[in-house]
Amino acid sequence: MKTFFNKGIILNKEEQMILKTVRELCRKQIAPKAAEIDEQEIFPWENMEKINEIGLNSLFIPQEYGGDLISKTAWLLILKEISKACASTGIIFATTSHGCHPIVQFGTEEQKKKFLPRFIDGALGGISITEADAGSDANAMTTVAEKTDDGYVLNGTKIFVSTGDVADILTVFAKVKHNNEILGLSPFIITKDMAGFASGKKEKKMGLRASSTAEITFNNCHVPDDHMLGNPGDGFKILLHALNYSRPNIAAQAAGIAEAAFDEAVAYANQRVQFGKPIIKHQGVQFMIAQMATRIQAAWRMILHVADLMDKGEDFSAEASMAKFFASETAESVASDAVQIHGGYGYCREYPVERIYRDSKITQIYEGTSQIQKIVIGRYFTGKKKW
Ligand SMILES: Cc1cc2nc3c(=O)[nH]c(=O)nc-3n(C[C@H](O)[C@H](O)[C@H](O)COP(=O)(O)OP(=O)(O)OC[C@H]3O[C@@H](n4cnc5c(N)ncnc54)[C@H](O)[C@@H]3O)c2cc1C
Repeated sequence: MKTFFNKGIILNKEEQMILKTVRELCRKQIAPKAAEIDEQEIFPWENMEKINEIGLNSLFIPQEYGGDLISKTAWLLILKEISKACASTGIIFATTSHGCHPIVQFGTEEQKKKFLPRFIDGALGGISITEADAGSDANAMTTVAEKTDDGYVLNGTKIFVSTGDVADILTVFAKVKHNNEILGLSPFIITKDMAGFASGKKEKKMGLRASSTAEITFNNCHVPDDHMLGNPGDGFKILLHALNYSRPNIAAQAAGIAEAAFDEAVAYANQRVQFGKPIIKHQGVQFMIAQMATRIQAAWRMILHVADLMDKGEDFSAEASMAKFFASETAESVASDAVQIHGGYGYCREYPVERIYRDSKITQIYEGTSQIQKIVIGRYFTGKKKW
């Protein structure tokens, strides 16, 4: 089914089939439950099982490891569709791919063969960078991985970990210490059964309330050598790579949220009558609709441009930040306008736009705030990187 915002997108036959199945799942299973799981803060296990059943967890894993890696255009379209139906489900699905990506890109053959098939079998993943005093400034983290004869011992506390309490496999960044010297950051593959690893406080959030965001702790957690990704101290490069990968995903989530808000606003404006006619006939409302549609179109086309660059193997770092920045600002502003078009009803939980508005806000914060995206973009144009 073509929608206005998806006009002109070219997918191959297999991708079209997958997208059709995703839309069915969204329509029948994911969207109808979105309000209830948000209200009751229920983790959507059933959605995740169904997502796995239709093979979506293999779409971010290369064929040689049993996956079915698809084009970025198709991938981002799928993420947008799921996030449009339920932003909480969207972030859980995306987060698994974020945790998995450093293994795909930087893992050894052994690491890939050992861990990637587990994601295909439905293992939930996540990525953990943030700490209480290290948010935008990731390098300020204090979780330490101290070298021992047969591996590393991790100590520290991470916060705000999406799926932190439920993930089977987490990619966790820590500072490597060897002979009392800090060598820099490194990511480690952490499995939930490791002694000394535990999840703690679960955040009570404004939005994405069906997703879980938790603290995780490391208390003398022994991690074997072969769970480190890359060489000791390579971690900052891997971290930047991981963020470059995840930012288009969050942009697609934001575009899905914006589209959901838009559809609700148009439907409501068509049926709400004031001054003797549906409010959509008032030019002031039409102007709002026009602005919302134009913003969504611009944001989505920026995301598709990033997808194209990724598929062609070109550098996309500035474009990823631009798309994430613009799409998340769009989601928040379009969702706000959708509430406005609903008037007082939009402020009530009975109407989906109330939840959609709460969900939109986080897209401006995680995976680097809007201010941090501007710093990345600014540095690109003023630093040593050239076109
Ligand atoms: C629901 C949720 C899920 C999350 N999931 C994950 C996850 O899975 N893994 C993970 O590692 N993290 C996760 N995070 C953490 C998220 O990435 C951070 O919250 C985010 O990077 C911002 O860090 P902070 O909250 O410490 O804010 P701070 O860095 O303290 O920023 C506070 C404010 O200061 C501004 N600011 C900071 N530095 C600058 C600067 N140099 N110039 C201009 N402005 C600046 C920021 O833009 C922001 O407005 C999640 C957070 C939430 C709320």
